[in-house]
Amino acid sequence: MNPFSYTQPKDIDGVLARLANGARPIAGGTNLLDLMKEGVYGTPSGGMTPLELVDINAIATAGLDRIEESGKGLRLGALARNADTAYHPLVRERYPLLSSAILAGASPQLRNMATNGGNLLQRTRCVYFYDVGVPCNKREPGTGCPAKHGINRQHAILGTSEHCIATHPSDMCVALRALDAVVHVRARDGGREIPFGEFHRLPGDRPELDSTLQPGELITHIALPDAARFVDHSAYIKVRERLSYAFALVSVAAALDLDGDAIRGARIALGGVAHKPWRVEEAERELEGKQAGEAAFTQAAERILEGARGWGQNDFKLPLAKNAIVQALMSATRGTAYARGEKE
Ligand SMILES: Cc1cc2nc3c(=O)[nH]c(=O)nc-3n(C[C@H](O)[C@H](O)[C@H](O)COP(=O)(O)OP(=O)(O)OC[C@H]3O[C@@H](n4cnc5c(N)ncnc54)[C@H](O)[C@@H]3O)c2cc1C
Ligand code: SF4
Repeated sequence: MNPFSYTQPKDIDGVLARLANGARPIAGGTNLLDLMKEGVYGTPSGGMTPLELVDINAIATAGLDRIEESGKGLRLGALARNADTAYHPLVRERYPLLSSAILAGASPQLRNMATNGGNLLQRTRCVYFYDVGVPCNKREPGTGCPAKHGINRQHAILGTSEHCIATHPSDMCVALRALDAVVHVRARDGGREIPFGEFHRLPGDRPELDSTLQPGELITHIALPDAARFVDHSAYIKVRERLSYAFALVSVAAALDLDGDAIRGARIALGGVAHKPWRVEEAERELEGKQAGEAAFTQAAERILEGARGWGQNDFKLPLAKNAIVQALMSATRGTAYARGEKE
């Protein structure tokens, strides 16, 4: 661990002042501290010195740790813990898809510590990104991407660039993308709202940037619009190396609005396949008016995966993603309670 400075302002203006000065916020610390210990942050090779941490936990009392009703939707505070969010009665009742996705991630201890804001900004799990002894365009732009011809079992099959093929590792974000969440941020000169689909980026020629959050901006909360029509038919499927405590190889958040067997509306987002949660809204629109079932769902899966390509070790993700989409939609059709194992 390298030396760093640490402040803990008691109000939001104090935090925003430190952020404007280049400080990095720390919330649960479950990703940030690992990155500091590995030397990815706070060393010259990490390219991010000097490091000043601004602890934002003391401003939770300003409401940033709350989960509150907002009309038929909800506001999830950035400092609410992942566990408190997943088990909150309003989240379980109105957004069972989100609750399932959060509970599929990490471990109980980590979810008790990890915050909603930090979950959105966790970094990729590409092994080269964490190893400061090797090149990596995301860590040190312009040095290269060894993953393209190396260890890439966990890597992306969609939206990659020649500069980076990393994935975004979050489970929570996959559900938030399907649910059309909006990220609310503040800086010293005001605030703005970022639709979830515009929050994370594809790597392009700037793989060092994961999101569209600007320097000096703090996430205050995440807004969830009304999703009542999807409550009865949703499912989160996560395929991984172990049954717990492993990142997704492929995950799918699926939700359907059904009239009998007829599809009135669909939401499908994928994790583990791209630099951001992946969603193809045309595929959802093409499902409208069709009968729920394997034929329609297979067509949708093929549409969503158009342009997908493997990099060697992760070629298996192409059929895996297709099957996972179909299975998630079949599971959503049977009903949320079945998908969550609450009914047989
Ligand atoms: C062993 C292990 C297994 C895991 N498995 C999974 C998994 O299966 N699925 C999954 O989804 N996740 C998994 N995680 C990741 C975990 O969910 C994240 O580490 C956690 O959500 C990050 O939240 P945090 O509050 O600890 O963030 P921190 O580590 O405190 O911060 C992370 C980043 O967010 C920034 N930040 C934090 N809050 C704000 C804010 N309000 N505004 C602006 N910037 C902010 C920080 O500056 C930092 O850059 C795993 C983690 C570990 C260590
Ligand atoms: S995939 Fe991205 S994070 Fe991994 S080595 Fe390549 S540039 Fe770095």
